[in-house]
Amino acid sequence: MTDHPPHTAQASADDARSAVLQERLAAVRHRISAATSAAGRLDEPRLIVVTKFHPAADVRRLAALGVADVGENRDQEASAKAAELGGLDVRWHFIGQLQSNKAKSVVKYAHSVQSVDRLQLADALAKAVAREQDATGRPDLYCYIQVSLEDDGGEHRGGAGPDDVGLLADRIETAAGLHLAGVMAVAPLGAHPDAAFERLAGISAALRANHPAAVGISAGMSQDLEAAIRFGATHLRIGSDILGSRPAVR
Ligand SMILES: *Cc1c(COP(=O)(O)O)cnc(C)c1O
Repeated sequence: MTDHPPHTAQASADDARSAVLQERLAAVRHRISAATSAAGRLDEPRLIVVTKFHPAADVRRLAALGVADVGENRDQEASAKAAELGGLDVRWHFIGQLQSNKAKSVVKYAHSVQSVDRLQLADALAKAVAREQDATGRPDLYCYIQVSLEDDGGEHRGGAGPDDVGLLADRIETAAGLHLAGVMAVAPLGAHPDAAFERLAGISAALRANHPAAVGISAGMSQDLEAAIRFGATHLRIGSDILGSRPAVR
């Protein structure tokens, strides 16, 4: 795609990495198209490429390959990459557990926070985004309610309990500067993703009964994107199948 040949070892290495990313991205896009047709859907879900653990240079390569949306799960890492990449034309989606005291930092770069799981965090984001809007005029922050699909008798980690979605939705909807976009979930380990995403589709339908504009369903990762598409995902969050493996623990 580049109109001048590489002159340095660094440039050749970049080209090699870009070629790998291009190939994996094409394979994932092919899976998405195939699953969308198989599900009888006309609308392809939006691809968010999850770049956590991978360098800012990869985000730049992905942007050059046409990726418009990237996902990150740690504020420290995401804010550093966003700063390093300056005005690069990508939307940053925050998809990890978020402490309220990080809200101020996240609203400086994030287009969406997909992991809003409690009232306190919604309030912190509302306050932070209002301040940022005063200072920079940034657009409203898209908020997804992260729902826990764990079947654990009421103890919900990594998301709000399905019964808490209504209250949280009302709080987000009434906050100036926050835009209620929909729901997000991760299929529980060991459970069949179809069952998890079918449940999420039901939670989304219940939400839309009161908040018709909150149509987003962010679901589906490398392993289960086909199941997520069958059950109505509007956004997919794909990391390892495009960027390669990452350290298991950090
Ligand atoms: C890391 C992560 C992903 C991407 O997962 P892959 O299996 O690498 O595709 C998606 N969603 C969330 C919330 C994540 O933390």
